[in-house]
Amino acid sequence: MELNSRGFYHPTQNAAQRKADSRQVRARMGSPARVSMGDAWSWQVHPDMESERRQPSFDVERLTNILDGGAENTALRRKVESIIHSDPEFSLKDNYFMSQNERYEAGVKKKFHLQMLAQRLGWSEGSRESRYAFRAVTGDLALGLHHIFSKSLQSLGSEEQIAKWAPLCNQFRIIATYAQTELGHGTYLQGLETEATYDADTQEFVMHSPTLTATKWWPGDLGRSATHALVLAQLICSGVRQGMHAFIVPIRSLQDHSLLPGVTAGDIGPKMDFEYIDNGFLQLDHVRIPRENMLSRFAQVLPDGTYVKLGTAQSNYLSMVVVRVSLLLDEINPLLEKACIIAIRYSAKVLDYQTQQHKLFPQLATAYAFHFMGTSLQEFFQESYSAILDRDFSLLPELHALSSGLKAMVSDFCTQGAEVCRRACGGHGYSKLSGLPSLVSRVTASCTYEGENTVLYLQVARFLVKSYLQAQASPGSTSKTSLPQSVAYLTAPDLATCPARRAADFLRPELYTRAWAHVAVRLIKDSAHHLQTRLQSGADEHEAWNQTTVIHLQAAKAHCYYVTVKSFAEALQRLDKEPAIQQALQRLCDLFALHGILSTAGDFLLDGFLSGAQVDMVRTAYLDLLFLIRKDAISLTDAFDFTDQCLNSALGCYDGNVYERLFYWAQKSPTNTQEHNPRNTENCCTAVSSQEAIQMTTAGLGGRFPAGSPRREYRSPKSRAEGRARL
Ligand SMILES: Cc1cc2nc3c(=O)[nH]c(=O)nc-3n(C[C@H](O)[C@H](O)[C@H](O)COP(=O)(O)OP(=O)(O)OC[C@H]3O[C@@H](n4cnc5c(N)ncnc54)[C@H](O)[C@@H]3O)c2cc1C
Repeated sequence: MELNSRGFYHPTQNAAQRKADSRQVRARMGSPARVSMGDAWSWQVHPDMESERRQPSFDVERLTNILDGGAENTALRRKVESIIHSDPEFSLKDNYFMSQNERYEAGVKKKFHLQMLAQRLGWSEGSRESRYAFRAVTGDLALGLHHIFSKSLQSLGSEEQIAKWAPLCNQFRIIATYAQTELGHGTYLQGLETEATYDADTQEFVMHSPTLTATKWWPGDLGRSATHALVLAQLICSGVRQGMHAFIVPIRSLQDHSLLPGVTAGDIGPKMDFEYIDNGFLQLDHVRIPRENMLSRFAQVLPDGTYVKLGTAQSNYLSMVVVRVSLLLDEINPLLEKACIIAIRYSAKVLDYQTQQHKLFPQLATAYAFHFMGTSLQEFFQESYSAILDRDFSLLPELHALSSGLKAMVSDFCTQGAEVCRRACGGHGYSKLSGLPSLVSRVTASCTYEGENTVLYLQVARFLVKSYLQAQASPGSTSKTSLPQSVAYLTAPDLATCPARRAADFLRPELYTRAWAHVAVRLIKDSAHHLQTRLQSGADEHEAWNQTTVIHLQAAKAHCYYVTVKSFAEALQRLDKEPAIQQALQRLCDLFALHGILSTAGDFLLDGFLSGAQVDMVRTAYLDLLFLIRKDAISLTDAFDFTDQCLNSALGCYDGNVYERLFYWAQKSPTNTQEHNPRNTENCCTAVSSQEAIQMTTAGLGGRFPAGSPRREYRSPKSRAEGRARL
């Protein structure tokens, strides 16, 4: 079998021949680890992609090492990935053609297979290997809530409770979920209706859903899988309501998996995505559980029913903080990184269009910004978490505000960014085979789960207003000096106007970081003043807050942008031993900061901090950056080092062979197989009418698209100019 004129194999070529030929090509080209979809054409990198990679301005492998936190981490990650990818159980090959049921079954199967593999290879829960395996499997795993349960147990459970439940959980002798949201209550946790009433006579809690709206609704893995649920419920002791607490409730038999007495549960029905997860509902009818099943690190109920509080009002929310921090780098940002890889590789031929750069490069810059910001948030989390577990709550408000605001910002921006990437791929971006629709529908859920974004931003705003009022305290007072570090800028000297005189001035990190600080401080000040004015004019607290929330939201968003710009810029300063990488990333940092200014220019113009002429300079600097980033764009996406299997995209593979792969993958659609073809159905009428419809359609098209019509070619501005010159 011959290669065709462009070096591609014909898709109908027999598999054995393809394999043999691919071995030859591989031998000729070496063994590029990333070109590994198993398709024969994978070994032949498209010439456009080859030329894109010819002269990167930096060492791509070194940047990958930096993103991984060291070369040894990259090596370990690749080792784990090669184990996962060489195991057919983890193949995503036919994912796009599976039904909901098939995806659920495959998700469960993969999860247990991974669990056994991890046990065999000694990959413990939370280890680097486990994280890398999760990334390699691309998250298409069922029973993810089991790990949320586990994290909640570690943060809210006493040492005895952890000793009892963690081994059961780690060995999958139980399957657990986290059941907080109710049919009628998501955000408003004080309003949760599920009750846990303590019965001192039997030393048990009676778990009960008193109304329809108290039905737990949404928890993942609850519909069919979970044997236990961590139920968040109102604790009632001696007739007194003590607020939301967490209880471990067995819901299915460990013998035959049937629902236990008093438990009603099932699946909540079709969703936008996550077909492989059985999000479910749960009603409890006076279900009794032992006293020891209330997680009691921060609160206890003594045998006689005495309630003992060991934490603060916020300590029961700690598990949500833990989960939010881990989501940023492990789940949400990778979805934007993948969307950028797919869209930018697919765009190789149109990447010289400035508008295409304007669509895609800010998304790439955002993905990098979130990587570095997420890393510094992780570091702060590590510092504060163990102190909080030891009941030192001094850093909890700041950690809560940072994790809430940054979770909201990352999920918002990643959702918008992934959709921009999808649309940037034209019609093929609408095909599921591009991988983009599922990235978009998956990332959009992150704006809601683990805290709805508007509500999270408003929680940040409360923290900001409080900090601002604290900063207003008389000079030299102790309260002023003890502002949390992330809001210390509220007391820093401010500039009334921006000193920039030329576009190049806007490429100075200290200048744009101060610009962001200025705008954030002004908006925070504004929101605090509006609130105070309402209160002074007699509005009650709730009313005054509600009438000013749009302004608070704006302030919280500006603060989060400032925090991100600052942490990105600071991370790059530490890369001074890698000048080429530092330069390439600095451009992305500049672009991220300036794109944000241009998108919210009104906020910078309002008090005259920037003049109209300066906004024009920002735009000039921004457009120059697009041009500079252009030549490194593919290399910057390569550095994320997602394998082709992880991307599972016909458009985004490393080799750039888009059309061959898309054509070949489409052939796998069940509608193209014989048994699904209407001609072969027993219902003649359907077959005949289908045939007629085809004939009518073909006649209607007037043969405009005969078989073998030429491949569509995109032409870059450069190649168009060359074409004109030849003419
Ligand atoms: C894919 C997915 C998976 C999920 N998995 C789980 C799970 O495993 N376990 C679990 O317990 N839950 C889960 N959830 C539920 C999720 O946590 C909730 O949907 C979320 O907390 C929001 O609550 P809600 O749906 O009741 O929306 P609401 O809180 O009712 O929000 C609706 C609207 O009201 C606005 N709003 C609400 N309160 C305020 C306020 N105070 N001020 C201003 N605006 C407000 C919001 O901004 C939003 O626009 C999941 C949800 C999804 C989509």
